[in-house]
Amino acid sequence: MQRSDVLITGAGPTGLVLALWLSKLGIRVRIIDKTSAPGTTSRALAVQARTLELYRQLDLADAVVKKGHRVAAANFWVKGAPVTRLPLSRVGEGLTPYAFLEIFPQDEHERLLIDRLETFGITVERNTELLGFEETGDDIIATLRLPDGQQEICQACYLAGCDGARSIVRKTLDTGFPGGTYQQVFYVADVQASGPTFNGELHLDLDEADFLAVFPLAGEGRARLIGTVRDERAEHAEGLRFEDVSSRAIEHMKVKIEQLNWFSTYRVHHRVADHFRTGRAFLLGDAAHVHSPAGGQGMNTGIGDAINLAWKLAAVLSGGAEAKLLATYETERIAFARKLVATTDRVFTFVTAEGRMADLLRTRLAPFLLPKMASFETSREFLFRTVSQITLNYRGMPLSRGVAGHVHGGDRLPWAHDGEGDNFEPLKCPTWQVHVYGDTSDEMIAWCHEHHLPLHVFDWRPAFETAGLGRNGFYLLRPDTYVAIAETCSDPKVIARYFRDHGIRPFFGRS
Ligand SMILES: Cc1cc2nc3c(=O)[nH]c(=O)nc-3n(C[C@H](O)[C@H](O)[C@H](O)COP(=O)(O)OP(=O)(O)OC[C@H]3O[C@@H](n4cnc5c(N)ncnc54)[C@H](O)[C@@H]3O)c2cc1C
Repeated sequence: MQRSDVLITGAGPTGLVLALWLSKLGIRVRIIDKTSAPGTTSRALAVQARTLELYRQLDLADAVVKKGHRVAAANFWVKGAPVTRLPLSRVGEGLTPYAFLEIFPQDEHERLLIDRLETFGITVERNTELLGFEETGDDIIATLRLPDGQQEICQACYLAGCDGARSIVRKTLDTGFPGGTYQQVFYVADVQASGPTFNGELHLDLDEADFLAVFPLAGEGRARLIGTVRDERAEHAEGLRFEDVSSRAIEHMKVKIEQLNWFSTYRVHHRVADHFRTGRAFLLGDAAHVHSPAGGQGMNTGIGDAINLAWKLAAVLSGGAEAKLLATYETERIAFARKLVATTDRVFTFVTAEGRMADLLRTRLAPFLLPKMASFETSREFLFRTVSQITLNYRGMPLSRGVAGHVHGGDRLPWAHDGEGDNFEPLKCPTWQVHVYGDTSDEMIAWCHEHHLPLHVFDWRPAFETAGLGRNGFYLLRPDTYVAIAETCSDPKVIARYFRDHGIRPFFGRS
């Protein structure tokens, strides 16, 4: 019987990133997908700044930035004319090395992840479907259907359900998936076209309760139209053709379609699974949460799930932590998923609300308010922080402790840079590490050395204060770069106690 450390079901972005991270950490993975080839349609477009920050650990960030398209501005249209232009090219300046909106279609993104996975000697097993599984104390025993139709029984220490919204893993676990389905039907179309909206920027039509956006793709005249339809057309979504919806884009945003490359309709649900873990089986990505694509959060959240789980699974499998560490995956990720689904639901409901009042808000008030809001750095910064996922944090959760400066245990480490350097540089290595901004004690230096815990001491500079970091003290960082401890003293016993309490032995790992 084949045996792997982790059996990953589903080679969408979530499964591929999990496989990459685990492979980098020396864990034996097997990744299967029931389809014969990777997806060829663009689907999710936005790669958020937080994803790019974390991609530095896999040396992927530069490749994504190079292959993708940086959006310079978002334009809002009313009655056939642009009314507001919101510059986006450096919208998060000073907050992250990736202070812009990056568009990189999901099919190209998946191909990049697959190529990178192959450098670790791992190939996605295609035409291989998970039919069911059971847990037998120390193992998962799974039944697979192989490309030749034969069945295989295989064994794994853990099962990762990255198998999308209709997840068989979730169904086998009998985990509830409460929520609802939007009455609108979404359509997506990749087109070759021309007109004023084909200038490499993002365009959003505020005219009607049905939503319409034109997203630029890399390449001259290439764009993605995303829209919704309701009324009687939504009841016959399967029969909806591009001709039925394209007239609106043509009328409202003066799009001249030259070629249609891909058109699809789909219904969107807003749901979060009741649990993200049952015993040795985990749910990640769309298998665990689905919501409106407005805001470009779905794929990025799945990738975030994968990174959160990867280091924990690797630690437990390599003897670097007790199995209780795995319970923190659900605690940390379900809280964010619930908040995200509630937020995207509120935004989407507002944007697509019907009635005279809603129309007035969109077509009169929004064009007036948006430029005002855009002119305030604080409102621009708030929007960027939220959408880019750099404010996502695990404050108040079991693995998070203390406060130093403006940084709490559970926060993303703030980015601080100036002519002398960048405090994110050491984060490329996915290991536990300690950062000190200012001075530390001899005891701390000796203790970290003795325990092989990387210690990075940065001479105090104004850039650290601007970023909200505390002087002296220390930050213990997890392998996924979130702050475990934010502490004002320089006593290494605080670290020793933390590791003891959580059953973590980070220095005795096999990788
Ligand atoms: C038409 C369309 C347009 C979209 N547009 C956007 C957008 O504009 N913005 C946005 O953020 N999101 C968008 N999404 C959603 C986005 O694509 C998902 O959030 C993202 O793909 C989730 O990644 P995932 O890896 O979790 O799941 P998926 O990408 O769904 O991957 C799951 C994989 O599991 C495999 N699988 C399923 N069951 C089994 C089994 N039993 N055995 C083996 N393999 C199995 C499937 O073949 C699939 O490859 C869109 C989705 C669709 C369908």
